[in-house]
Amino acid sequence: MKSIFTLICLIIITSSTILAQRPNIAVIGTGGTIAGTAESATRAGYSPAQLTVDAILSSAPQIGEIAEITGIQLCNISSQAMNSTIWLKLAHTVDSLFASGNCDGVVITHGTDTMEETAYFLNLTIKYGNPVILVGAMRPATGLSADGPMNLYNAVSLASNPVSRNKGVMILMNDYILSADDVTKTNSVNTNAFECPNYGPLGVMRGGEPIFFREPLLKNTITSEFSISEINSLERVDIVYSYADADATAFDAFIDKGAKGIVIAGVGHGNFSPAICSAAAKATQRGIAVVRSTRIIRGGVTTDLEEPFAGQISSYYKSPQKSRILLMVALTKTDDPAEIQRIFREY
Ligand code: GLU
Repeated sequence: MKSIFTLICLIIITSSTILAQRPNIAVIGTGGTIAGTAESATRAGYSPAQLTVDAILSSAPQIGEIAEITGIQLCNISSQAMNSTIWLKLAHTVDSLFASGNCDGVVITHGTDTMEETAYFLNLTIKYGNPVILVGAMRPATGLSADGPMNLYNAVSLASNPVSRNKGVMILMNDYILSADDVTKTNSVNTNAFECPNYGPLGVMRGGEPIFFREPLLKNTITSEFSISEINSLERVDIVYSYADADATAFDAFIDKGAKGIVIAGVGHGNFSPAICSAAAKATQRGIAVVRSTRIIRGGVTTDLEEPFAGQISSYYKSPQKSRILLMVALTKTDDPAEIQRIFREY
């Protein structure tokens, strides 16, 4: 009798120790298709950003077995409505969760359209090495074979695993672990919608366990020189798209609206039309930062400061949308083109 009592006590102590060891993970809801609903399980049309983060979490109850979850609803929007005010609020929220000492990792549910932008902004600005994982879905929560619950389970598993520390901000979609510095959406409808076109994925999830192939080599989070703790707004930076016949109307209009920087989504290796070329030269002389990026998803723009691009900044492997974010963040520290070029090489 005494030994049965001892055994029961041991089981209770052991299981409560295992439960107590579960990591504390905050799941921050921002909206998107993962929170979307449709009138039927099979129709293509649906409404994103309908469900709360707690409702999304209840679709994958197995998550409760791996982590102690706190749901936080930051906003509930389609991610085409994402903006830098929400980015700053999100970065401040994540930093304060980690500063509290009670949060081991953060998962952010997000619409897929601008998920790579939010991930990259956080990659530059979060000051902790704890895992931060963004996750979404391509099918709404009510869809037949919805991808959200498994993506969310994988994201929480990834955030809960100590091996995910100090790897920068990551996106988890369709079993792939994707680094914020290179990830981009490459399919507007399929569940396999994201790639890292220049460096390849960081790894994959198998049965809730991460398998990493490589480390991110660019600076991020704990190695980042940027801090937004005292910052509540960012300078205006716009993107000018280059194409056959492109004139300088958009370029000049953005400058008139007060842009402090322009990113050019150039053709090929960061080239643009003669009209944009002369608008860019004038802007550079006026002290406006001009970044040469490319609308091509692989290869980047890597030559530095040669004529006719004197004083301009090469994007390296950043897409135009990520170059815009890096320039906005860089402008919190400097407007010196040589220094901004150094930043574009390192991040
Ligand atoms: N456009 C919506 C958004 O980005 C839905 C796309 C999605 O989440 O996959 O939030």
